[in-house]
Amino acid sequence: MSRRDELAARLAALRDRVERACRSAERDPAEVAVVVVTKTFPASDIRLLAAMGVHDIGENRDQEAAPKAVECADLELTWHFVGQLQRNKAASVARYASVVHSVDRPRLVGALDRAAASAGRVLRCLVQVSLADDEPGRPLGGAARAGAAADQVIVIADLIAEAQSLQLGGVMAVAPLVADPDAAFARLADVAATVRNRHSTAIWISAGMSADLEAAIHHGATHLRVGSAILGTRPPGG
Ligand SMILES: *Cc1c(COP(=O)(O)O)cnc(C)c1O
Repeated sequence: MSRRDELAARLAALRDRVERACRSAERDPAEVAVVVVTKTFPASDIRLLAAMGVHDIGENRDQEAAPKAVECADLELTWHFVGQLQRNKAASVARYASVVHSVDRPRLVGALDRAAASAGRVLRCLVQVSLADDEPGRPLGGAARAGAAADQVIVIADLIAEAQSLQLGGVMAVAPLVADPDAAFARLADVAATVRNRHSTAIWISAGMSADLEAAIHHGATHLRVGSAILGTRPPGG
């Protein structure tokens, strides 16, 4: 099977899965966007996906994303930065990304605001919420440990909302690897509602990956971040 056929088949299966989950959650599939996370896979895959109607691309490392964005500059893509972000990478990320899903601390907000201003762009930012702290003593996936603690979420959301060149889009989270994703995403939905009550633009809930997207859809996710279900297994650590 060609890589094109393989990606087309997996993308069709994924879209099917999303539709079924929406039906069972009594939601309109049009409310649920899929961001295809292409980390560790080449720009040629992004090109094939773009030809199949994929516009939203997610990456988690600037060193990898920046050159891919250059390679794909002729395509009409929206780049989503979903990984841990160092302040010294903000300027680079602001040049290609439209959305940063992973704003997890106050000091990152100023760096992103200055970076967006000098790139002459407005960046949509989501507050990454930690879903790890109700799981005492359980082994966690590294990604779930990332994110702001509950008492920091509003602080960060307010800072984003006040920033000149940022727009507060909502919240994002990664469910703990081992725990029940239902409980984690239910909690995220509560946090999302609190933020939205304060900031009416904050309507995005970025949640759900290849393994847990049904639970995320059930709890109101508006943006799924899907990698391996479409692109295949990544090398360990990728
Ligand atoms: C890699 C990654 C994903 C996609 O994960 P899959 O399990 O491959 O679907 C989603 N979100 C973040 C933050 C990631 O780093």
